[in-house]
Amino acid sequence: MSTQEFPCTACGKCCRHVNLSNETAFLDRGDAICKFFNEDANLCTIYNDRPLVCRVEDYYNKYLSDSYKWDEFVKINLIICEDL
Ligand code: SF4
Ligand code: SF4
Repeated sequence: MSTQEFPCTACGKCCRHVNLSNETAFLDRGDAICKFFNEDANLCTIYNDRPLVCRVEDYYNKYLSDSYKWDEFVKINLIICEDL
């Protein structure tokens, strides 16, 4: 189980590149940006109901906690955030 929150800066880059992962491609409105993303506010319009794949801690706990330690997972993800 994760003991910390993912250190997300809410930059919104992942929501602007949902085409890059098979897990989030279904959210693509056609130009790589998530159909639920408000570009002006740089915010998710369904934040409280966003899909599991967007809930980093929950997704980790469900699918990845057997394969990665939380700190390791965070490190890998931050590299992906940087590269977006
Ligand atoms: S790209 Fe990373 S830091 Fe930026 S909003 Fe997404 S998860 Fe947070
Ligand atoms: S549902 Fe929300 S958090 Fe998930 S990619 Fe879309 S805008 Fe981002």
